[in-house]
Amino acid sequence: MIQFQHVSKRYPPGINALSDIDFEIGDGEFAIIGGHSGAGKSTLLKLIAAIERPSSGVVLVNGQNVGALKRAAIPYLRRNLGLVFQDQKLLFDRSVFENAMLPLSIAGFPPREAGKRVRAALDKVGLLEREKAMPIALSGGEQQRLAIARAVVNRPNLLLADEPTAHLDADTATEVAQIFRDFHQVGVAVVIATYDGASFAGARQIVLAHGTMTSS
Ligand code: ADP
Repeated sequence: MIQFQHVSKRYPPGINALSDIDFEIGDGEFAIIGGHSGAGKSTLLKLIAAIERPSSGVVLVNGQNVGALKRAAIPYLRRNLGLVFQDQKLLFDRSVFENAMLPLSIAGFPPREAGKRVRAALDKVGLLEREKAMPIALSGGEQQRLAIARAVVNRPNLLLADEPTAHLDADTATEVAQIFRDFHQVGVAVVIATYDGASFAGARQIVLAHGTMTSS
């Protein structure tokens, strides 16, 4: 599903965020990317999602060379990806339901089918009863669950999350981690950048230090 072949990423003016990264993640696998702050975890996820392009090497996702995709092809790649990234904020002037609906509205889904998908996604993350609530009324854990619901309404086969348990207490972090495990159980591949190894114990670990892989 994901292959990194001798991938390096250098940001201007010359920061080597990743150096010669080589690994493979299979269909339906659950993997966490570990390592210290600045190790290159977010950069690795951004390369998978074609938010950044590799400086050298090849990144394959679902058989596509995502580093070489034309700009116009990127929305098609993203349709198969669920992203739970910090910079994808919830809209605080829209309800829980409307937030989860957003990717489908943008894709021009017929409202009836979209509504069914939104309710199914909210149900999976345990927020169905809060569909009319505004995000401000949700706890931190619930907001994170809403971000996950929004990421999965397109029914992606790959879910990427960047530090999804940051700022949550240990019990809430465990609950959020369980939601990712539930998606993995039904066949979705999950890749999570996190320093919170405890919440994701048992998952395959790819560990980075200063942009190089120390274990996989
Ligand atoms: P992590 O997610 O493990 O904290 P990052 O992938 O965010 O690590 O960052 C890896 C390195 O790349 C760090 O030295 C960081 O400062 C640098 N970096 C990340 N993004 C950029 C960017 N857009 N421009 C320049 N340097 C960046």
